[in-house]
Amino acid sequence: MRAEVLSIGNEVLSGRTLDTNFQFLARLLEEAGARVVGHQAVPDEEGAIAEALRLAFARADLVLTTGGLGPTPDDLTVEAVSAALDLATMFDAPTLAAVEARWARLMRGPMPDRNRRQALVPAGATVWPNPVGSAPGVLIAHGGKHVALFPGVPEEMRALAVQFLAPWVRAASGRTVEYALVRTVGIAESVLEERLAGLSAALGGAWVAYLPGQGGVDVRVTLPEDVAPEERARLAARARDYVCERAGDHVFATEDRTLEEVVGALLTAQSAHVAVAESCTGGLLGGRITATPGSSVYFEGGVECYSNASKVALCGVRPETLEAHGAVSEETARELAEGIRARFGVGYGVGVTGIAGPDGGTPEKPVGTVHVAATGPQGTYHRAMRLFGNRAQVRERSVTAALELLRRLLKGLPPTTPGAMFTPPAAPPAPRP
Ligand code: AMP
Ligand code: MG
Repeated sequence: MRAEVLSIGNEVLSGRTLDTNFQFLARLLEEAGARVVGHQAVPDEEGAIAEALRLAFARADLVLTTGGLGPTPDDLTVEAVSAALDLATMFDAPTLAAVEARWARLMRGPMPDRNRRQALVPAGATVWPNPVGSAPGVLIAHGGKHVALFPGVPEEMRALAVQFLAPWVRAASGRTVEYALVRTVGIAESVLEERLAGLSAALGGAWVAYLPGQGGVDVRVTLPEDVAPEERARLAARARDYVCERAGDHVFATEDRTLEEVVGALLTAQSAHVAVAESCTGGLLGGRITATPGSSVYFEGGVECYSNASKVALCGVRPETLEAHGAVSEETARELAEGIRARFGVGYGVGVTGIAGPDGGTPEKPVGTVHVAATGPQGTYHRAMRLFGNRAQVRERSVTAALELLRRLLKGLPPTTPGAMFTPPAAPPAPRP
């Protein structure tokens, strides 16, 4: 099955909205066994939508649209697609009732007439009720092909796509694409690829993808479709073993789990708690840890200690340390970790301090200089890094590095291993007193 996605909305074309809907749908479609052959960004104009649909139908069997299902007159995807396919439009009674009930629940007063538009569907379409919003998804059959319309609001599109589209595509494509996933951190993509050079051949030519992001690299092996399930499971196990052997302790998961989930599980297994003191990441570390549901079991709390005064008053850094080594230093990172651990009275503490840029760098401590430390009953680990990238990237990678250091401490691994990606600053840290 060949699929194409139309991202409809002026906000997408003007660059004000990043087209995350396409990214999500493309991945979902691929995993459900469809092949994405095209993608268009389309303005909220009837003619443009009709033209995009014509083009998409010329090369795809399934066309998906997102956007243009709102209540306002600029949202006209239903009308445009219906007109292009020569279909009448009608109000779907169950959807209308749901839209009215939703309005009554969330708003006061009578519902504006224009909200009824969200119950407008092409005649003969299958209606997929929206579990988290108003406008439903609809599936239209047309000359042996299909077009499905989804709202633009990402949460609504996702909920509908997962609940209705994915099973439908899986059944229609008759394929299931399965992967073996190994997630690594702290090793460069090219180094990893070099170490895993023989992986594809070892699996009889399986497709191997390297997917970098957030300071880690995922290795994803597409398992062959034409083999029995037991054989697939065997190949998946062989792929995981192969990567684990060669990537060593850079592997943090052999399934779809995040680094923060893995760290959380390690803390839980030790019935331990962690507190964080964040300077350069300003709450991002705590944010990532608490993005995992249930993190209150092991996350005690944190301090965003941006100023020197707050590092001293709240995190137990000694003024002399700041004086002698500066806020961005190994010594300060260690004292942040140890101080916050003591302050919160927990088993583990993490400290982050660095220069995210674009300003604030010096020859000895250029932008991207970051120190992370993790401390626990075993002692204190520290890592000095020179991270590349813009402010957002430096901050995100600092969070990853801090989590990685804590993982190593929790697992009894050395603080770093050969081939580690985070390079130390060019200038050696000042000698300790
Ligand atoms: P709609 O009312 O269905 O047109 O949806 C509009 C909302 O969805 C706006 O908040 C947009 O920012 C968001 N949106 C629309 N298209 C996309 C897209 N392709 N990716 C991410 N968000 C989108
Ligand atoms: Mg819109």
